[in-house]
Amino acid sequence: MTGTTQSTRPYLSYVYAYPHKTAYRPLAGHPAGRPLLSDLWAAERKDALSLYLHIPFCEVRCGFCNLFTRLGAPDELTTRYLDALDRQATAVRDALGDDEPVRFAAAAFGGGTPTFLTAGELERLCDIAEKRMGADLGAIPLSVETSPATATADRLAVLADRGATRISIGVQSFVDAEARAAVRPQRRSEVEAALGRIRDARVPVLNIDLIYGIEGQTESSWRTSLDAALAWRPEELYLYPLYVRPLTGLGRLGTGTETADTAWDEQRLRLYRVGRDHLLSHGYEQVSMRMFRRADAPHAGPDDYACQTDGMIGLGCGARSYTSSLHYSFDYAVEMREIRGIIDGFTTTADFSRAEVGRYVDDGEARRRHLLQSLLQAEGMRPVEYRERFGTDPYEDFPAELALFTARGWLDGTEGPSLLRLSPEGLAHSDALGPELFSPAVRAAMAAYEAK
Ligand code: SF4
Repeated sequence: MTGTTQSTRPYLSYVYAYPHKTAYRPLAGHPAGRPLLSDLWAAERKDALSLYLHIPFCEVRCGFCNLFTRLGAPDELTTRYLDALDRQATAVRDALGDDEPVRFAAAAFGGGTPTFLTAGELERLCDIAEKRMGADLGAIPLSVETSPATATADRLAVLADRGATRISIGVQSFVDAEARAAVRPQRRSEVEAALGRIRDARVPVLNIDLIYGIEGQTESSWRTSLDAALAWRPEELYLYPLYVRPLTGLGRLGTGTETADTAWDEQRLRLYRVGRDHLLSHGYEQVSMRMFRRADAPHAGPDDYACQTDGMIGLGCGARSYTSSLHYSFDYAVEMREIRGIIDGFTTTADFSRAEVGRYVDDGEARRRHLLQSLLQAEGMRPVEYRERFGTDPYEDFPAELALFTARGWLDGTEGPSLLRLSPEGLAHSDALGPELFSPAVRAAMAAYEAK
């Protein structure tokens, strides 16, 4: 079923975390107040934590981007930010305590653009992860995001030396006019040079991000970008549908897409299928709607959605942390002035001992989250594993949702009830299917959130 009627519009929202940050609220307003991190983490397992360090700076602000990041960093702001990150890491490590072993199983530097930092600042970032938090970066997967202009040889040398196993670069398009249309001015020659430097750094996994659905993009120009990326034999490729979100550069430009929604949906679905088929025929496996992995690639980075597992420590003012009962972060914004204010507030924070903004997740939400993050993976979910964790069957817990997905042709029933797996059309509609699994409470909180 490929309809794009209102109820099955394919591009509603990218569910990279559930609940979304727009469902978080200041915890000062919660009856329990702002909880101490030491209390929050006391009963949690701490032997296989994930560590995420967020660097909210970019040298450009891409028109499609609604991530928590600011353009440039005047007046030694990066130094002040790293100073605050250091204080936060010290406070968080103290809160984790030493009653049980604290071990990190994976680390990631994301953003923003972590390589906005200089080589010397990246050394310091690695020191914060290692010396303050105790993560052994040389022994665990370490994934780092970069951009063409900031992927310089000196920065990459630091990252490779400190144990980076995966470098992910946002290219979006190898066609210069498309890069401009997505409000990310860059030349293909600069992108190719950056990819050469990344390969020279010999980090095991290269991931390239591409975007489809850009104004003026055709099947032919999309194949041009795909082939240009494939020429580097990247171990991973992420293909993202373009979204125009409120308060982003493209959102402000008012590209006229509201009136052309259906045509745009059809363009994106068509380009998705072209991209998927192209990669599948070039030796890649589909991991999720967005993620493709070269079949012979080493496995050196987190899987798509893996950051949703419990036991995530996020440091930095845009990072989320997850315990089994609370997801928390700092305030969230998309508008540049608001972001600047939140970052300034972070750099002057002295006391990082409490969670500030977040959302408690009860057992029902944990079930939804488990189903969401498993079902959106191409390999699907074994109901027996769900039963082992929750003691019930997903068909009992989510009868209406799973019946809807079946009626829409989104489930692949070839293996019977022992495997819940999306059909190719279900995977193509991941961004419509995911939001169907949001709870009424989370939907209401997201709807009540005022974008800023
Ligand atoms: S897409 Fe990446 S490089 Fe562009 S503004 Fe967003 S975080 Fe920065």
